[in-house]
Amino acid sequence: MADAGFLIVGASQAGAQLATSLREFGATCPITLVGAEEHLPYQRPPLSKAYLSGKVEADSLLLRSAAYYAEQGIDVVTGEWIEDIDLAANGGRATSASGRTFDFDGLALTVGGTPRRLPVPGADLGNVFYLRDLADAAALRTALGAAQRVVVVGGGFVGLEAAAVANDLGKDVIVVEALDRLMARVVAPVVSQFYLQAHESRGVRVLLDTGVVGLSGTGTVSSVELSDGSSLAADIVLVGIGLVAHTTLAEQLGLEVAGGIVIDAHARTSRPAVVAAGDCTALRSEDGPLRIESVANAIAQGRAAAATLAGVHDPPVRGSVVLVRPRRHQAPDRRSQLRIRRRRAARRPGEPAVLRALLPGGPAHRHRRDQRAPRLHGRPEDSRG
Ligand SMILES: Cc1cc2nc3c(=O)[nH]c(=O)nc-3n(C[C@H](O)[C@H](O)[C@H](O)COP(=O)(O)OP(=O)(O)OC[C@H]3O[C@@H](n4cnc5c(N)ncnc54)[C@H](O)[C@@H]3O)c2cc1C
Repeated sequence: MADAGFLIVGASQAGAQLATSLREFGATCPITLVGAEEHLPYQRPPLSKAYLSGKVEADSLLLRSAAYYAEQGIDVVTGEWIEDIDLAANGGRATSASGRTFDFDGLALTVGGTPRRLPVPGADLGNVFYLRDLADAAALRTALGAAQRVVVVGGGFVGLEAAAVANDLGKDVIVVEALDRLMARVVAPVVSQFYLQAHESRGVRVLLDTGVVGLSGTGTVSSVELSDGSSLAADIVLVGIGLVAHTTLAEQLGLEVAGGIVIDAHARTSRPAVVAAGDCTALRSEDGPLRIESVANAIAQGRAAAATLAGVHDPPVRGSVVLVRPRRHQAPDRRSQLRIRRRRAARRPGEPAVLRALLPGGPAHRHRRDQRAPRLHGRPEDSRG
């Protein structure tokens, strides 16, 4: 295995960044990026926004072209699910479900996660959707076309974004949230309140403090049973109740896992030979392991992991922000000034620009240019929403 090179398991935002950064940091050895999906790495954010609303198509979501990977000497292997990894003294071998093997000198796990399933009777009925990958989004987009009554279970980012798109498309949308406010895990109460009012004012019905105890229908879902004994008629149900990090491979390798693969600020796992990055990780912090699901974090950790594998010094990651040397302030160029003025003019009175992102017609519903071409350093304003 003299020159087996680096193997990156999971070909999405973090994995693609890691591969790209390895070359940037001067790695000349083979790099293999292997992923279970049939596509080259693509952006997920538009799946609940411009792609779901039909404004963009799948081919515009790619993070990089096939030609780019070829030029960089990055071997992207699609459609292979790695189910077994053996670590040896200096490297190891991964085996996919189809029996393909991949030898490596250095290993990275960028395996993301899978949507948390709704644990109630009837959850396996037809027209119950989750939204994580392109296949999910394509199926939901088709079903939305024929549906009128849409129930969204979970008032988090993905659920609210999809609710806003469905509302824009003229559907009757009800969001059911078990907690007493929207996006309770990630925003302050005042921001939850803002979103509640904004969605309601646009015609989305929001039920807080309400659990879902069952789904019913014949073959496909037709009603959602609620904890207060009432039920909601539904043509489709979208479940957005969080992500479960993929940790099976990490557990197999004996890595420390705490809701995600535990890493330090240099993306090192508890075994020095293995790095990890992105949604599958839990960053060690003073307050305990920190799980962050965002593009900015996947980019920052992907880069940190590449630096560790390549043995170069790079600023450590803290949360979703990479600590970078301060840059001298630059006045915005003319195009940026015009863009800022246009945004200010479009803002509704009393509605902070940053908070409009998740609302129908808001910036989150447009294709975000900054996510098409990943930045080398994640910035706070790149993160979710
Ligand atoms: C609908 C939606 C909207 C979003 N909107 C935003 C947003 O607006 N802003 C934002 O910052 N973030 C957003 N996010 C979150 C963001 O997309 C994720 O944080 C980011 O994609 C994480 O990248 P990742 O590479 O860590 O994981 P993932 O993108 O989950 O990729 C992991 C990849 O690994 C593959 N894999 C897993 N296990 C294996 C295995 N054993 N073998 C082979 N392959 C494997 C998976 O198939 C997958 O392709 C959104 C996410 C979704 C789903």
